[in-house]
Amino acid sequence: MFRKIQILFIAAVSLSGLHAQKTTSVTPQKPKLVVGLVVDQMRWDYLYRYYDKYESGGFKRMLSQGYSLNNVHINYVPTYTAVGHTTIYTGAVPAIHGIAGNDWYDRNTGKNVYCTADSTVQAVGTTAQSAGQHSPRNLWSTTITDQLRLATNFQAKVIGVSLKDRASILPAGHNPTGAFWFDDSTGNFITSTYYMPQLPKWVSDFNSKKTGDELVKNGWNTLLPVAQYTESSPDNSPWEGLLGSAKTPVFPYSNLAADYAAKRDNIRYTPFGNTLTLRMAEAAVKGESLGTGAVTDFLAINLASTDYAGHKFGPNSVEVQDVYLRLDRDLAEFFNYLDKTLGKDQYTVFLSADHGGAHSEGFMEAHKMPTGFYGETSKKDYNQLLKDKFNSDKIVTKVTNNQVYLDRRLIQQNKLDEEVVKAYLIDRLNEDPSILFAVDMKKAASSSVPEPIKTRIINGYNWQRSGDIQLIYHDNWLPSYSKLGTTHGAWNSYDSHIPLIFMGWGIKAGESNRDYNMTDIAPTLAALLHIQFPSGNVGNPIVEVIGK
Ligand SMILES: [Zn+2]
Repeated sequence: MFRKIQILFIAAVSLSGLHAQKTTSVTPQKPKLVVGLVVDQMRWDYLYRYYDKYESGGFKRMLSQGYSLNNVHINYVPTYTAVGHTTIYTGAVPAIHGIAGNDWYDRNTGKNVYCTADSTVQAVGTTAQSAGQHSPRNLWSTTITDQLRLATNFQAKVIGVSLKDRASILPAGHNPTGAFWFDDSTGNFITSTYYMPQLPKWVSDFNSKKTGDELVKNGWNTLLPVAQYTESSPDNSPWEGLLGSAKTPVFPYSNLAADYAAKRDNIRYTPFGNTLTLRMAEAAVKGESLGTGAVTDFLAINLASTDYAGHKFGPNSVEVQDVYLRLDRDLAEFFNYLDKTLGKDQYTVFLSADHGGAHSEGFMEAHKMPTGFYGETSKKDYNQLLKDKFNSDKIVTKVTNNQVYLDRRLIQQNKLDEEVVKAYLIDRLNEDPSILFAVDMKKAASSSVPEPIKTRIINGYNWQRSGDIQLIYHDNWLPSYSKLGTTHGAWNSYDSHIPLIFMGWGIKAGESNRDYNMTDIAPTLAALLHIQFPSGNVGNPIVEVIGK
């Protein structure tokens, strides 16, 4: 009897102890701010290829204090920018969220549609109308940022910042506090009347500081002595593109200030484009008092210069390495700013990428690796294939996003059977030496295509906006317009394997080699914030990162 009472007593004490611990806990119930850092074209392996040259406060801080998922893949094709940002923030795939490419072909109008183009709105902050006429109207799903707004009765502040319109607009969702992007005609951050009639004072103030001019004034030289860039090819490699007025792809780029004065977009290809973006992000934290209200706020940042530099110089260039080494230092500074402003561990950061990038064709060839180019004149060629059989050379209306669009109306007019035409073209395409598979997009599920390619085709196939035939090229084959630098868009790991690291409030330290998908990012944030999944979400929360 005595023992029983004693046990009950101990149980009661430990229960009250638990209770006391919970109520006096200093951990807040939610983070003050969520910061999304989507590094454009960041291959997962950049975390480790340049590891020895990173300092402690940027990527290494995230790896040591945060939780790194080492095997996250993009679960659709095509692996392009607008699609990646949208999928990260919606947890949905192009078949559902509607953003089927950076642009796609509209069968009704016969025109290309740019993902965020919106002629019903006006530019704000520039006279360059086309730079500002953008909105999220083509996006069919809600974003995690929309869900935060909904969950807080629109008290949460949401801001999107990027050099690229699409990488600011799509992450910020349908009803943000603001979305801002870079205008090449002025070097200013701008927005559209979809969001507001004029720029907030803090944005005008930031613009008037001319931070871009300041950042490029000394040109671009390597951060470390160039001989230390042993992780990259020689500085002057024949497959690199040229920056501005430079005659060779070689450091130092002393003409950068003059090039920037003549053409503002030159900053995009340099590390200073990222620095400018992060300075703008800091201005947003201050200007909108992010993280100081009763609810969690959200700052969605895209670092785009990694992508511009990647496209121009290729993943093995000294230029790209330098962009990452400088981004590492910029991130350290940015985290310090957030620590000082909001308190360490009072905010949650995640870092990921919208897609990776292939090695340059020339680089692969020089090192005896499989590679090649596929043609650009394909529309004409494909129509020629069909002409002999079906007596029309206009059946293929568009080849874009590695998809072939057929003119369904013309096929009907000519009293042809669409299925017969499509099957014939697919057979002929499969004879093309650059093509691994040509797949009927409506019948991908029953095609003899291995996983995960099959699922990625289905997830990427938007029934209203995509083409009729999906082209999967041989590994490391690039479109012939990418003779210099590189590109992305394929299903392969070099394009689909992305970093994902969470850090800060509510996040454990650690790492995992389990397989996850890009669509798991948004539901993980939803779980962390105790809010509803975005409307089109197909992902699952990554439970192992949550908890401290
Ligand atoms: Zn991108």
